[in-house]
Amino acid sequence: MVECMGSNCGQRMSADYYGVSMISVKEYAYAKINLYLDVLSKRDDGFHEVKTVMHTVSLCDDVTVSVKPSSRPSVKLTVIGHSKLPTDSRNLAVKAAELFLESTLKNAEVNIRLIKRIPVSAGLAGGSTDAAAVLRALNKAFKRPLSDKRLLELAAELGSDVPYCLVGGTALCYGRGERVERLLGCLHLYTVVAVSGEHVSTPTAYAELDRLYSDFTCERDGEHTSSLDAILSAISSADKAKIKLYNIFENAILPIYNGAETIKKRMIELGADHALMSGSGPSVYGIFRDRASAESARDHFIKNGIRAYYAESV
Ligand code: ATP
Repeated sequence: MVECMGSNCGQRMSADYYGVSMISVKEYAYAKINLYLDVLSKRDDGFHEVKTVMHTVSLCDDVTVSVKPSSRPSVKLTVIGHSKLPTDSRNLAVKAAELFLESTLKNAEVNIRLIKRIPVSAGLAGGSTDAAAVLRALNKAFKRPLSDKRLLELAAELGSDVPYCLVGGTALCYGRGERVERLLGCLHLYTVVAVSGEHVSTPTAYAELDRLYSDFTCERDGEHTSSLDAILSAISSADKAKIKLYNIFENAILPIYNGAETIKKRMIELGADHALMSGSGPSVYGIFRDRASAESARDHFIKNGIRAYYAESV
């Protein structure tokens, strides 16, 4: 048996596809938080033009992909930790594997084991990060038939956030989110991510934004652009004192989802220096000065029946 650790900690190869009958590759599928998120316009193709700074945190799903030679391609998914997620092609992890096999013309039986921890429909890119992890794992299992550029193209076919999830770290993303520019800097954040019982579907959140901003035909004030300058400066100088967060979705979602608004206020009361809703919500994260204060805030939320996770920068 061959065992090796790859550059993404968590990757573990247990055999060689060509010499032995099966290979398994494990990948951590990390959640993202948005440090900045603005919607600029609505496009003719129905997508919105966004500008966002995304940041990978340690809250993660585990994705293990096992590959066996077969006369025809097939994909099976087992989900642990979430009973309501689809396990067929509606699941982005399955979609990613099917797209990979189709693009590489590989005949193989692919079994995916997904341990789900990231809250679903919470603005943390849970589905996108699983899809990205499957693409990374399969490319390793098959000894890299696809270039990084080709993997990014497949990722963009799967969803707007999947290219970022493939790259990870801190990045400025444009277009519908699929254009990713890695940002240098080493801002290390100690956060608590908390979600009330509510779910927000991304299309519903965009519809609410369209209503609020009259389909993005109106002028908006400039508060958000100064936040972008501040956050970019905080990242490049690794200076937390410069952090200023912004998420346009808060204007649409917080008035409707009381749970998110309450959690945001509570984060600050519990000592967070900053708090913001992530993505299209309703998850809210708080940034704390150190791990101990973040963990103590997490414990407070849990004691009060709110799902909360300690997560730090990866
Ligand atoms: P984003 O932040 O990218 O908008 P999100 O975190 O709000 O995403 P997800 O958790 O990715 O939302 O789930 C959105 C929808 O995708 C749900 O309806 C869910 O059923 C579906 N879905 C498909 N595959 C997955 C998966 N592997 N994990 C979670 N959700 C999935």
